[in-house]
Amino acid sequence: MNIFIINKKKIYILIFLIIIFFIVLYIFFNKYLKNSIQASSDVNNDLQTSLDALFNSKEKVAYLTFDDGPTKSATPKILDILKEEDVKASFFVIGKYVKNHPYIVKRAYKEGHYIANHGYNHNNSILYKNNESFLNEIRNTDIEISKAIGIDNYCSHIFRFPNGYSSSIYKSQKKEAVKLLHSIDYAYIDWNCLNKDSEIHYSKNQLLNNFKKSSKNKDTLIVLMHDTTDVSDSSSVLKDTILYLKNQGYIFKNFYN
Ligand SMILES: [Zn+2]
Repeated sequence: MNIFIINKKKIYILIFLIIIFFIVLYIFFNKYLKNSIQASSDVNNDLQTSLDALFNSKEKVAYLTFDDGPTKSATPKILDILKEEDVKASFFVIGKYVKNHPYIVKRAYKEGHYIANHGYNHNNSILYKNNESFLNEIRNTDIEISKAIGIDNYCSHIFRFPNGYSSSIYKSQKKEAVKLLHSIDYAYIDWNCLNKDSEIHYSKNQLLNNFKKSSKNKDTLIVLMHDTTDVSDSSSVLKDTILYLKNQGYIFKNFYN
């Protein structure tokens, strides 16, 4: 009987020690995993921090950004105007269009514009299908840019989410996607100013007025435009937009500086 009691006690102690062991193991792995996720999302923290800081900057700087190109109908015209006005801008290109018009991207790059990444297909159901699909959209776009500009392993480092990070669609997927972006040395940027060229067809004057309203009382501007002509044509109002900004005392930068 005595022997049985001693054994029972030993079993209780053993069970107790096993439970403690697993609790310690759980705490250790939980901490370790959390740290490794944190580490991967901190990889590109510096770039993300500096891009985020632009939205609070008090400098009168305009970052002109053009999404959804390259297109034959708009991009060369935009490049001509940027050259005339000595303005450097940023192009968030779509991979499959880079493949169609590599010479336009090459020209933009050679003329000092920043070539940034807007995904390969501009199709949310492909982009957010799974992690691998998201990363492929980025990688395949960079591969096309590399071929177009003749630089091996080009990395854009800056991504713009189709419809923007702040839009209400695919919220949870975008939150996860940011971690993926940071793990591949990428950051993302939205905008704080737009002429609504992708919403409905606007005349030249309406586009300029939309832009003036949107930029009012803002210091640093990250201006969203599109180098496409299927809805409204920002190339038709680009010169007036630049002249207006120069007149307001703005200088122009792209994401190289
Ligand atoms: Zn877009």
